[in-house]
Amino acid sequence: MGVLSMKGGDGEHSYANNSEGQKRLASDAKPVVVETVKEMIVKIDFPGCIKVADLGCSSGENTLLVMSEIVNTIITSYQQKGKNLPEINCCLNDLPDNDFNTTFKLVPAFHKLLKMDVKGKCFISGVPGSFYSRLFPSKSLHFVHSSLCLHWLSKVPDGLEDNKKNAYLRSPCPPNVYKSYLTQFKNDFSLFLRLRADETVPNGRMALTFVGRKSLDPLSKDCFQNWSSISDSLLDLVSEGIVKESDVDSFNLPFYNPDESEVREVIESEGSFKISNFETIFGLLFSYKTGRTEVKDDDDNLDQSCRFEVIRKRASIIRSITEPMLGAHFGDAIMDRLFERYTYHLAERYDTLRNKPTVQFFVSLTRK
Ligand code: SAH
Repeated sequence: MGVLSMKGGDGEHSYANNSEGQKRLASDAKPVVVETVKEMIVKIDFPGCIKVADLGCSSGENTLLVMSEIVNTIITSYQQKGKNLPEINCCLNDLPDNDFNTTFKLVPAFHKLLKMDVKGKCFISGVPGSFYSRLFPSKSLHFVHSSLCLHWLSKVPDGLEDNKKNAYLRSPCPPNVYKSYLTQFKNDFSLFLRLRADETVPNGRMALTFVGRKSLDPLSKDCFQNWSSISDSLLDLVSEGIVKESDVDSFNLPFYNPDESEVREVIESEGSFKISNFETIFGLLFSYKTGRTEVKDDDDNLDQSCRFEVIRKRASIIRSITEPMLGAHFGDAIMDRLFERYTYHLAERYDTLRNKPTVQFFVSLTRK
């Protein structure tokens, strides 16, 4: 389970240094998060202490940037109504193997982002554990935020024995493979909602953003190209005699990108939360900064060296997300070679990958 964590530290392949795209996606979702917080404050009637959680906070600054937006929005809402400011407890959750320390070192910088009035009233704490288990006391949370996490399943689904040579869904693949993934997603997301329902106060809110898919067909190419290139790179290493074929056959990612109806169905049948807002946001996860200029994945006029840099950066982002998982299964020694091959396969597919936005669902839920 621990291997799902992103790559820690602040090195070249760390999440902290490869999550600008995730930061950009979070800023796309910011207006809707702010709106959700404002509505929540009014509904819960300005309590003296507010508890906010970011689930799947990972390591690096992203979680603190979101938290500062949430805290500043709470403060403004109280000030506008002339209320005494509340104490605010910001809880940062991720799996126990997450590198929390890289984030905690940034807490002084976080305090600088807060409105003056809240200094001394805002407390950060770390909550290690899976969000597919209970994390907080009953009815203690007012606001739950989770960005880019719920596409990660609690485990690799059962019944994927026939999914040989593929790390995820791919076309063609045996029909039971899609069913296994969907069932695991439904069970996990439903459990997540039930657990949060216990922990959240009535009228408390959740703002969830996660990777979804636009196409109703789960085997449509757009849904898994990054992962197909991982499979192809692993198979290259099998030909080179560095990786065993049976290890590739038994490797599957605990990932699922649902479509809108699959998400809605789980929320409705679980029944604890009302959908207050559901938006599809098309974001660019894969672009990067060189010096002060931003190079975007959808730029038609990239010269050859820029194009190569974008591809390399894209590979590095995927590496920061998948290296702990791949390393646990195949051993750390193959990582550099694997991602050389990965960069090569991305370059080959680049014209079909380019311009493809990451489909995100933003879902705002109210505890009934
Ligand atoms: N919210 C951050 C990180 C997204 S990366 C951002 O927007 O930048 C996804 C994070 O979810 C990873 O840090 C991973 O460790 C975490 N995660 C995945 N499954 C989890 C689980 N079951 N419980 C808690 N965290 C989980």
